[in-house]
Amino acid sequence: MSLKVEQVLHMVGGTGETSYASNSRLQEKAIHRTKSVLAIAVVETYEALHPEHMVVVDLGCSSGPNALLVLSHVLSVAAAKFSGTTELQFFLNDLPGNDFNCLFRSLEGFKKRLEGEIGEGLLVPYHVAGVAGSFYGRLFPRASVHLFHSSFCLMWLSQAPEGLKTKHGVPLNKGNIYWTESGLAEVEKAYEEQFRNDFSTFLRSRHMELNVGGRMVLVFVGRRKRTPGHGDLVHLYGLLGEALNSMVLEGIVPEEKVNTFNLPSYGASFEEVESIIHNEGLFDLDRAEIFESSWDPFDEFEDDLHAISKYTRSGKNVANYIRAVMEPLIEHQFGAAILDDLFERYAHGVSKHLLKEKANHTIFLFSLKKKA
Ligand code: SAH
Repeated sequence: MSLKVEQVLHMVGGTGETSYASNSRLQEKAIHRTKSVLAIAVVETYEALHPEHMVVVDLGCSSGPNALLVLSHVLSVAAAKFSGTTELQFFLNDLPGNDFNCLFRSLEGFKKRLEGEIGEGLLVPYHVAGVAGSFYGRLFPRASVHLFHSSFCLMWLSQAPEGLKTKHGVPLNKGNIYWTESGLAEVEKAYEEQFRNDFSTFLRSRHMELNVGGRMVLVFVGRRKRTPGHGDLVHLYGLLGEALNSMVLEGIVPEEKVNTFNLPSYGASFEEVESIIHNEGLFDLDRAEIFESSWDPFDEFEDDLHAISKYTRSGKNVANYIRAVMEPLIEHQFGAAILDDLFERYAHGVSKHLLKEKANHTIFLFSLKKKA
C-alpha cells in the first residue's frame, strides 16, 4: 500500500520553535506576492454575482498566521469594494491532523487587530468555520462556494504514487525518496501520473462545488521542466534523501526504510498543469504566472554576513522550514529519534548546495474561472 497522505500529513502544530506557525515565512511571502490577483478575484466574483453572503474557502490553510493573512486580505478588499449588506462566510480547510484548535484560538485576537486596522465600521460582517478533509474529493455541497484560494498545497499528492514497486513487490526507487534525474524513467512517470489523477480530481470536485461565475486562485510549487535548474524540488528533496542515506551508511537508519519511502509530493511543470486544466475543460484560465522564491525564506536579510556563515545560516533556515512541513511524515516512517540528527545533516547538505549555486523555488499562480 502506498502511503496515504490523509492519515499522516500535517504541519507541525502549536506555536513552538519547530512549529509551522513559527516557520512559514516562505509561504507567507507567496501570499504577499499573489495578493493582488486574489484581490482581483474577490472583486470580480463579487461584482459578477453580488451574493447575499459570499463563501470563500482557503484550501490547505494549515495552522499558522498565514491562514489569517489570507482572511485579512479578503476582508480589506471587501471593506474597500463591497457595498450593501453582503456578508462573508470563510471556510478554512485542511486535513484532519491539522492543528485547527491553534487556528481557532487566534481568531478573537485577529478580529480585534483587524477592527483596529480596517476600522470597526468598515469591516464586512464575517464568519469562520473549519472543514477537515482532503481536497482530493468533495468537501462542500454543489454550487455552494464563490471563491476558492489555495497557497502552497497542490504540490502535495493524495498518496505516494502507485507503481513504485515491481509486480513482485520489489521497490523501484531504492535509495531515493523522490524521483531523481539519474533514476528510472518509470519513477518520474509514476509521479506524473499520480499528479495528473489528483489534480484532475481536484478540478472536478471544485467545479461541482463552485457557483456559476465562481473562481479559484491557486498558488503552488512546480518546476521548469525544459531547463532543469538547481532549485527544483528534485534537488531540495534529493538532499533530504542524501541526508537519510548518510544515516543508512552509519547504521542509524535501516536501508529498507529508505527503499520503501517515497515522498507524496510532486513539482509539476507549467505545461503539465496547463494541459490538465485544458483537458478537463471545466475552467477558463484568467491569469497564469510563474515566479521564483529563494529556498531560504530569510535570504534578503543576510547579505551582510560573510559568505560561509551566510550559507550555514541559509542551510539552517531551509532545514527549519522543511522540518516544520515534513516532520510528522518523516517520523511516521523513520521514528522520532532521528529527527534532530537528520535535519542537522540536511542543513549541512543544503548549505553546501547553496555555496555552489543560489537555489530558487519555481512557483505557479493560476487564476481560474468556472465555465458556465
Ligand atoms: N496555505 C498555508 C499552508 C501551506 S502548507 C500557507 O500558505 O502557509 C500545506 C498545507 O496543505 C498543509 O497544512 C497540509 O496539511 C495541507 N494539505 C496537503 N494536502 C491536503 C489535502 N489533500 N487536503 C487538504 N489539505 C491538504
